[in-house]
Amino acid sequence: MNWGNPTHQVENQPQPPGEQNLWLDDPILRNLVASSDAQWIQNEAKQFGALMGHPKTTFLASEANRFPPELHTHDKYGHRIDEVTTHPSWHELMAIAVENKLHNLPWLQSSTAGHQARAAMFYLFNQVENGVACPMSMTYAAVPSLCQEPNLYETLRQGLDSHIYDPSFVPMKQKKGILLGMAMTEKQGGSDVRSNTTFAQQQADGHFRLTGHKWFCSAPMCDGFLTLAQTDAGLTCFFVPRWEPDGTRNRMLIQRLKNKLGNRSNASSEIEYDQAYAQLVGDQGRGIAVILNMVSHTRLDCVVGSVGMMRAGIRLAFQHVSGRSAFGKRLIDQPLMQQVLSDLVIEWEASLRFAWLMAGTYDSEDAETRDYGRLLTAIGKFWVCKRTPAVVAETLECLGGAGFIEEHHLARFYREAPLNSIWEGSSNVIALDIIRTCTRLPGVLEQFMSQMQRTQGENKGFDRALESLPETYRLAVADQAYARQFACLLAQLIQAQLMLAEGSTCVGDAFMTTRFSLNETSPVFGAQRIPNTAAILRSAFSEEFD
Ligand SMILES: Cc1cc2nc3c(=O)[nH]c(=O)nc-3n(C[C@H](O)[C@H](O)[C@H](O)COP(=O)(O)OP(=O)(O)OC[C@H]3O[C@@H](n4cnc5c(N)ncnc54)[C@H](O)[C@@H]3O)c2cc1C
Repeated sequence: MNWGNPTHQVENQPQPPGEQNLWLDDPILRNLVASSDAQWIQNEAKQFGALMGHPKTTFLASEANRFPPELHTHDKYGHRIDEVTTHPSWHELMAIAVENKLHNLPWLQSSTAGHQARAAMFYLFNQVENGVACPMSMTYAAVPSLCQEPNLYETLRQGLDSHIYDPSFVPMKQKKGILLGMAMTEKQGGSDVRSNTTFAQQQADGHFRLTGHKWFCSAPMCDGFLTLAQTDAGLTCFFVPRWEPDGTRNRMLIQRLKNKLGNRSNASSEIEYDQAYAQLVGDQGRGIAVILNMVSHTRLDCVVGSVGMMRAGIRLAFQHVSGRSAFGKRLIDQPLMQQVLSDLVIEWEASLRFAWLMAGTYDSEDAETRDYGRLLTAIGKFWVCKRTPAVVAETLECLGGAGFIEEHHLARFYREAPLNSIWEGSSNVIALDIIRTCTRLPGVLEQFMSQMQRTQGENKGFDRALESLPETYRLAVADQAYARQFACLLAQLIQAQLMLAEGSTCVGDAFMTTRFSLNETSPVFGAQRIPNTAAILRSAFSEEFD
């Protein structure tokens, strides 16, 4: 039978990407790893890259976000149970993350440059899913704080070192692997944790009981939480397990789950401690200092995770524009699209190099390098996390209307992108922290200056920016209103140095032209004429998009 002309022909749409290897596809990452002490991770990263680039993993990520967690406060008889259920895809992704040691790699005794090696894996994971990254990050980061309480750490060690994801809700001793979270933020103050009102009372046998609330507590199905509470000595760090030593449920009551913009696969809850069992971590009154050991590591992850999202956006944009034409030409061959994509590639590469530099300082035993790493972490957290939403938004637009549609994944990354700027210290707080770090650790700024002076004389724009640093610093110390200006300047200097020293000539030159020229810089991607776009686009992927 002749049905007449077909009404639904699909033309000029990109091919589905099929199986990819996110590691093999990424020449910058591979070079960074190959030329570092983390090169031993290459084989694992190659396998992981294939897994992360497999369509099934992408499907799991979509499903985990499409079916968000549910809270069950009570059982059918009215007993409190405080359990959160998640979609099976969440559990599959959690198992993948734990098997690949995203929660513990640097703490395993055998690893050198463990933080960089883990950063490479965490970056790959964040190109696919970001909710699972949260408990991975918190578990990884909790260890330096727990080390302040060696006996407690020893009791948790076996569970933390395990590569088995065990979601069962039973006491830690019965589990094959454990995960940790943190609960600091309260209703009346998140950035200002000194305003915490949760209080701790010591019991006759030495342990503490906590009473109070926490306004944000992510991944509440973790097995234990580092938390802050007041004692007579001031704000103090505690460890709160989900179960008491006698095998009863600890009175950490999950009141409700947040209905979030992004990060929807992961539960974020409001909790109340009702005489909850807790163990002291570190000295009483030193809670902020103790938990900052954790926070510095989660901040590193905010940066690495953000660069992962940038990379995901660029990859999805490249795939689309290579397979779609408009006005008689493929989009990727249109001069203006090449400008936009080149600018995005430059931003991503500078961010990846920055994140890698930061991660390397965590592997150092040298106190000066660690202090310098503290400054780099704050600068990276401020800058890279702030640039990510802009990068992701622009990559989304490369897909046109398709970018706005959930199935293309960028909508999910777009919702996720602002989060790394907010948690673990929002941008203003971080900008102020940069000044505090420079004033309290004066050697750090000198170290920064002497690092930058190595590049002096190579580029006029760089020299001009470096010369303005002492005055911008003076202003920022005198008046907090200049803190963001100072943070931006430090970040751009670091990225410029990395791009000039390590980037290819075409990418390095383009970075300097677009970010450091007197008249040409613009906050809009693709608004400046970038030469050599073909070479820049080629540099971002191992295989060309033909
Ligand atoms: C999805 C999600 C999950 C989270 N999970 C957790 C968790 O598991 N555990 C946990 O403890 N917390 C968690 N948080 C909380 C998060 O860390 C806080 O929201 C964050 O630290 C900011 O605190 P706040 O919300 O109280 O904002 P506020 O402290 O009220 O800050 C509001 C704004 O004011 C700015 N600001 C603050 N001080 C100054 C200043 N002196 N000068 C200028 N500007 C200033 C901040 O930068 C921010 O932009 C989560 C948050 C989100 C969104």
